[in-house]
Amino acid sequence: MEKKTGVYICTGCGIGESLDIEKLSSIATKEYKIPVCKTHAALCSEEGVNLIKKDMEGEGINTIIITACSPRVKYEAFDFDAPCIIERVNIREQVVWSHPANDEDTQMMAEDYLRMSVVKTQKMEIPEPYKVEDISKGILVVGGGLAGITAASEAAKAGYQVVLVEKNSSLGGWMSKMYKQAPTKPPYTDLEDPDIAARIKEVEENPSIKVYTSAEIEKIAGGPGMFDVNIKQNGNVVTERTGAIVLATGATLYDANKLHHLGFGKCANVITTDMMEELAAKGKITRPSDGKEVQSVAWILCAGSRDENHLPYCSSVCCVESLKQATYLKELNPESTAYIFYRDMRAPGQYEHFYKRVQKDKAVFIRGEVTGVSEDGSKNVIVEAEDVLTGEKIVTDALDMVVLAPGMVPTTGVGEEVLPPGVEPGSEFIPYTIIESNILKLDYRQGLEVPVLKYGFPDSNFICFPYETRRTGIYAAGTVRAPLDIPSTIQDATGAALKAIQCVESTAIGAAVHPRAGDLSYPEFFMQKCTQCKRCTEECPFGAINEDEKANPIPFITRCRRCGTCMGACPERIISFKNYSVDIIGSMIKEIEVPEEEEEKPRFVVLACENDAYAALDMAGINRMNYNAWVRVIPMRCLGSMNLVWIADALSKGIDGILLLGCKYGDDYQCHFAVGSRLSEIRLSKVSETLDRLKLESQRVRMVQVGIMDYDQVPGILDDFAAKLEELGPNPYKGF
Ligand code: SF4
Ligand code: SF4
Repeated sequence: MEKKTGVYICTGCGIGESLDIEKLSSIATKEYKIPVCKTHAALCSEEGVNLIKKDMEGEGINTIIITACSPRVKYEAFDFDAPCIIERVNIREQVVWSHPANDEDTQMMAEDYLRMSVVKTQKMEIPEPYKVEDISKGILVVGGGLAGITAASEAAKAGYQVVLVEKNSSLGGWMSKMYKQAPTKPPYTDLEDPDIAARIKEVEENPSIKVYTSAEIEKIAGGPGMFDVNIKQNGNVVTERTGAIVLATGATLYDANKLHHLGFGKCANVITTDMMEELAAKGKITRPSDGKEVQSVAWILCAGSRDENHLPYCSSVCCVESLKQATYLKELNPESTAYIFYRDMRAPGQYEHFYKRVQKDKAVFIRGEVTGVSEDGSKNVIVEAEDVLTGEKIVTDALDMVVLAPGMVPTTGVGEEVLPPGVEPGSEFIPYTIIESNILKLDYRQGLEVPVLKYGFPDSNFICFPYETRRTGIYAAGTVRAPLDIPSTIQDATGAALKAIQCVESTAIGAAVHPRAGDLSYPEFFMQKCTQCKRCTEECPFGAINEDEKANPIPFITRCRRCGTCMGACPERIISFKNYSVDIIGSMIKEIEVPEEEEEKPRFVVLACENDAYAALDMAGINRMNYNAWVRVIPMRCLGSMNLVWIADALSKGIDGILLLGCKYGDDYQCHFAVGSRLSEIRLSKVSETLDRLKLESQRVRMVQVGIMDYDQVPGILDDFAAKLEELGPNPYKGF
């Protein structure tokens, strides 16, 4: 495409009053000889947008540089639905809203941003979507419990063909063994009959859902839009092609055999909550040792949960499940007594009404730590505890039975920890774990199963995008993803089905999935210069690059999330996107005007992750927080795409420092591309060679982790860095 560029400068939102717009326009018209440069008082208004549209039609403008607000806003107004390059120069949030008006440094900042955008548009091309032939929009659901059948029926209702694989001989999972379920409807006080049979029937009668029971996955090859799934059933193997996968294999209860200290395996009448459901389903709750109908039962909550020696986390539903069982104990035998030993009663939302009902039913609640469980000669169980409210030691009478409420363990298992390249064993940061659970048997270079978080749940970013695993097109739903109750499982499965639908639809048009939803660019490899170093294959967080027997990378584009981590990893700099490359960013850095040393105007480049850090900078602007005007921010798809050559380029040009702002990493707050931010820090640790070679101080390059909610700290971070650079003095390469 022959580019015809137009620069459009908005003077609204305080821009016109803060900057010399004529001078800014002259950067486009005089410095870059761009003939079309127009201003408008509200570029996002219908009139402003029409001004651009008119030029597109009349003048053939196809490269549009919108010098106005942040690219994070007004993207719908500036979507021209035509093959064109659109570049947004953020002079509102990151220039005039965060720097003094009519100030020389503020003006220089706006001018540099325009320069950087002009060169970016000169270098970039319009991405052509990567389309796959023989694409499937079908959805594979693995697991036929509540989450699996919900995901299957929701996807089918939306018009998609579904293949459902269940290892047992019938559908329904754990819920089909349930006697009663906790209240889900107003007044939220009454137990309900599980409606799983109706849900199973709906799935079995739906012609769009093909059900394989007593079946398991033998292998899954391919990627989004083209997963080839070998399913083994009755000794036969069939292959189904699907476009996305919902992993809904659920959870199991924590192994009660490890709860010897709470009497399990030691006392005949100590059972677990799942065993209680089976007993109640018989219509009369009798104790295992002698079949006597129980009169007194104690529940011990958090059995092994929130305990560093067992399950350190809360499984969220055990409290309410125990309240439910205490209620049906009373319903089946009104003369019975229920004791509930709890640490904290977690009955969130509407469950509070149910909790109050159980209190009114005169269940005996004891808040305390259970210190011992033993049995007498008649197999009655005695519980000893310390009441944390009164400080008293409690010893119960001889009880007929004790029910332990253990937590949930995802079926994906906890597996073996795998450190990313460059991370030393024993390091605090453990980015992902490869599991050996033998469920999906993926044909991926980076392991047969999806990576999991610290406790085995296969989520990848629970804050911003639940359901996403670290394998593109595979979405976890239900209790395999997180401990969930019934309504949350249904909601979760519906969400995951929608994600799977988004995935197949995006893949069909060659677009990326979340978090770069809709992005049509993808990494391209200039293979003639590849040295087969395997850095890209090893560092891709999503297993999107395989390799041949000679270690040549083979990108699997539909698996790619377009983060650019491979681009940052490649020492030969041969991986690039049509609109994002080592050359494009390097050229933007080179376009920054670096004042002479005597002007005492240092410059520093901020490479800011567009997911959080860039947004935090915008928020600082929205809140009119001021920060140093020596800053020149360049958004990164992910800090993992940071190539060390930019640092060398910037420093040799006389830029005084480089600050990397990336996502916080680790399990509690994750990088949007799983390990990109961490990989960038590892790469940065090797930058000292470059600095030594240039005889520069290592303090000139720094990385800081920021989340979007840290926006109020960002100005301080930038100002501190600026002060540090001032202290170090000018980069001696200035002027070269
Ligand atoms: S590193 Fe990122 S951009 Fe590169 S192949 Fe993997 S997912 Fe795609
Ligand atoms: S990182 Fe670059 S040089 Fe190394 S294998 Fe990948 S493409 Fe080839």
